[in-house]
Amino acid sequence: MTSSPLVDREALAERIRAVGLKVTAPRLAVLKMLDQAAHSSADQVFGAVREELPGTSTQAIYGVLSAFAAAGLVRRFDPAGSPALYESRAGDNHHHVVCVRCGDLRDVDCVIGEAPCLTPSDTSGFSVFAAEVTFTGLCADCQKVNAELEAS
Ligand SMILES: [Zn+2]
Ligand SMILES: [Zn+2]
Repeated sequence: MTSSPLVDREALAERIRAVGLKVTAPRLAVLKMLDQAAHSSADQVFGAVREELPGTSTQAIYGVLSAFAAAGLVRRFDPAGSPALYESRAGDNHHHVVCVRCGDLRDVDCVIGEAPCLTPSDTSGFSVFAAEVTFTGLCADCQKVNAELEAS
């Protein structure tokens, strides 16, 4: 099935309207970019959107990202030691696995399937909505590099 740009645009606009936000050109461009490149930093989003909409400012991009995150349309994720990353796969409580050597980052489906998938032993009276889990390890490529280093 081929999809026309107009149909794609309407589908994006529909998702923006569904969370109660007004549809604007920068919002459409940001959502489209995050669909194509998950786990992008604000700078990466800015770089991609500016190609499409040359007049866009960094502040405008930050504004769109925070409005999307507040509305639950986009998920903000803060990996240790790197800038915040954004993705349009939101609301499914998925987790991330990060390679400690090269920084490769992938999605991991939620183990249980529903937020919060982990139950703290003591909530200190909080009502808990979500558990953010980051698994760390070595990706397949880095395991190979390590094995080669050990063999040499
Ligand atoms: Zn790696
Ligand atoms: Zn993700």
